[in-house]
Amino acid sequence: MRLVVDLNRCQGYAQCAFLAPDVFAMHGEESLLYNPHADEAQREQVMRAATACPVQAIRVEDPDDAPAPAEGGLSGVR
Ligand code: SF4
Repeated sequence: MRLVVDLNRCQGYAQCAFLAPDVFAMHGEESLLYNPHADEAQREQVMRAATACPVQAIRVEDPDDAPAPAEGGLSGVR
């Protein structure tokens, strides 16, 4: 699975690091480190983290599925 965190939106609340510590980690007080290619086995944790994020900064993308329409953010065009 593939995930993207909008770091402009992320406020460093660390909910994700608490709920999915194998995928997200806080680095210092505000910066977030994460694995953008989390394992399928971590999907449940990641989905929980995405739901819990107070600013909805975590987006899960599945390259195998049809691309989900972006919410007015990035378009798929390079
Ligand atoms: S829960 Fe959301 S706001 Fe908090 S650190 Fe994670 S991505 Fe950032």
